[in-house]
Amino acid sequence: MRRTPSLCLVVGLIALATLPVRVSTQGGSYPITLIAPAKGPFTFPPGYQTPWDKIDIMVTEKMSANLFVLHGSQGLDPAHPDASGGRALVLFGPDGVLMVDTQNRQVADKTLTALRTFTDAPIKVLVNTHIHGDHTGANAFFAKQGALIYAQENLRNEMLRPPPRANGQPAQAPDTAGIPVVTYSYAKATVGEPAVTLHMNGETVDFIPMMPSHTAGDTIVRFRTADVIYIEDFYRNFGYPFADQANGGSLKGMLDAADLIEKLAGPNTTLVPGHGTLVKKGDLLPYRAMLVDIMAKVKTLRDQGKSLAEVLAANLTAPYDKTTLGDTQQSKDRFITEAFDEVKDFPPIVDGKRTMPVH
Ligand SMILES: [Zn+2]
Repeated sequence: MRRTPSLCLVVGLIALATLPVRVSTQGGSYPITLIAPAKGPFTFPPGYQTPWDKIDIMVTEKMSANLFVLHGSQGLDPAHPDASGGRALVLFGPDGVLMVDTQNRQVADKTLTALRTFTDAPIKVLVNTHIHGDHTGANAFFAKQGALIYAQENLRNEMLRPPPRANGQPAQAPDTAGIPVVTYSYAKATVGEPAVTLHMNGETVDFIPMMPSHTAGDTIVRFRTADVIYIEDFYRNFGYPFADQANGGSLKGMLDAADLIEKLAGPNTTLVPGHGTLVKKGDLLPYRAMLVDIMAKVKTLRDQGKSLAEVLAANLTAPYDKTTLGDTQQSKDRFITEAFDEVKDFPPIVDGKRTMPVH
């Protein structure tokens, strides 16, 4: 459903009036944060559904003069109440548009409208950082706008042959128009090296395939001139860590991903997570330490023969609740369940996916 411009303006003004707006400059004139993600806490009534017609997509950060971030409204989407959807990056200029991720399918029109507020250039290249709907949902829409889609081969496989849902039911069939066309794979021997390098609009852009971490099909995207790396979702600072094990992810792989960023990023490199605030590489260290600590504690309990229910009841995340925004019970339980599944009898990755136990 499309809204009239006047209502858009009203909603925009309400957003400006009620949300924390911070304009900051770090390391020269960029990045510029126009709208920082909200901190919450947020609560939603039982049965609440995301009102997609109320969600706007806005330019929330400028990473350079021609590299902008698109992100969604705050306080409306229970999956990501700090800012709806997963960040999309847009590099633009005379060579056309390169996008990183496409936001949710339901707001595809609004994502394009936001993009068209700053560039008329044709949309040429799209790279997906991982398969989740808040990052690939509008793939088919942007492919129809002209984008050639790049991703890891595993992401393509996950999309063509999705794993069953958490409840064991078969997943929905994919929209074939949104499936990546140009693929590459992660290899241990070339860890950290770009699979693709594009020279566009004065930027040098590297697509770097990641080890199985958030999923088995992750890519990080480095913009060398802007000194920016889009690190997608293996790191997060809103809610507890999430490794999508059914799509081949693992908490252990997220440790390896954090270690790789330590090598790839310089002290001033701005890291752009899919959600939460922009960070520097030093911010990944306490996150990494928490992953190590929780996995060790869960392993100890599981080795003692404790059940999942008993491990969840141990409330192992308690020391981190004060410093973790968005620390819902669901987010904690998901994290601990992942650790429980991973420390013993963890299924292997086949075709980009794992057959996970149903709890
Ligand atoms: Zn995401």
